[in-house]
Amino acid sequence: MSFVRSTPLPFSRPSINQEDIDGVVDVLKSGWITTGPRCAAFEAAFREYLGAEHACALTSATAGMHLVLSALGIGPGDEVVTPSMTWSSTVNLITLLGARPVFADIDRRTLMVTPESVENVLTPRVRAIIPVHFAGAPIDLTAFRKLAADRGVALVEDAAHALGTECRGERIGRRGTAIFSFHPIKNITTGEGGMVVSDDRELIEKVKLLKFHGLARDAWQRYARMGALQDEVALPGFKYNLTDIQASLGITQLKRLNELNRRRAFLAGLYDRRLAGIEGFDPIRPPSYPHLHSHHLYVVLLKLERLRLSRDEFLVELKKRNIGTGIHFRAVHTQYYYRECAGFGPGLLPETEWVSERIFSLPLYPDMTEGDVEDVAQALADTLAAARK
Ligand SMILES: *Cc1c(COP(=O)(O)O)cnc(C)c1O
Repeated sequence: MSFVRSTPLPFSRPSINQEDIDGVVDVLKSGWITTGPRCAAFEAAFREYLGAEHACALTSATAGMHLVLSALGIGPGDEVVTPSMTWSSTVNLITLLGARPVFADIDRRTLMVTPESVENVLTPRVRAIIPVHFAGAPIDLTAFRKLAADRGVALVEDAAHALGTECRGERIGRRGTAIFSFHPIKNITTGEGGMVVSDDRELIEKVKLLKFHGLARDAWQRYARMGALQDEVALPGFKYNLTDIQASLGITQLKRLNELNRRRAFLAGLYDRRLAGIEGFDPIRPPSYPHLHSHHLYVVLLKLERLRLSRDEFLVELKKRNIGTGIHFRAVHTQYYYRECAGFGPGLLPETEWVSERIFSLPLYPDMTEGDVEDVAQALADTLAAARK
């Protein structure tokens, strides 16, 4: 083994500064730590950043997906189209609501579903389509909006990777309905958290009702009215409200988002140049339409045909060289429940399965140094050389 970095390089690490820490401490000292004024301020700042009409802060993007699908009335007998090259939460929720997931294949060069691949699997039972803006690149919103409107189905964007992403000059989330995540690996974090944004007032009001037991007002709103009687349950709801402790982090992180994304873009550019000189990866193509990438992930496709190792074995070798990696994603339809119990499985989505066996994510986070990128490139070159057939 030639190159081994002296300390482990994590795959991801949140960027937390003193203002983030001070803000959280202030909330803890304030006497109000759950949903309240900080949440309202975070929602307002988020709306302003995106130019969006309505926003609702929640405990996770998964919670947001649950509430949006519930608000749309998705249930037994319905179908929902989504990629299998995604995080499992969307597919799990479709299943838990009693509806059926329908998987659209991806383009192996862009890693995203296309209007054509979605159209291929549309049936009269499909009520919604949920494409994923992948790794920080946008789907073609113009084409997907037209498809959804023509077919009379809801378009819900999984924007977990797309905070700061633009498609044809328009920021993701400005129009339509999109769901963002603030999990620690995402472009900004609240520890855990998520945000639903929408230009559909009726939809967002239902989401807001469902997020807190089905009560029209949350605890803060009742407290602010001092002594008002407890509201009644308008419909059975969940408990998905974000705390003010988390919202404080959201406010201070959002202020730095553009700066953090610029740093990600710089590091991704270094990877591009370094990896261009290393044989061993299949090309990934940026979208052909005008866009701004948020560089949430730096994913690569391993040229398996030339190696004696599987992708998983390759990642173990990188780990021995102190380089952490991630897998985004293992195709959901090939995982145990969906393979053994739900009637899906290998063979269904050739492009997705091809990508699923080869894809992994390199370390990428704002606090990485140029030297860290160099270490990753060296470890990749060495591991590839040692694993060649
Ligand atoms: C992270 C992620 C989610 C889930 O976000 P949570 O906030 O953890 O619920 C959903 N979809 C994609 C594509 C993701 O990467």
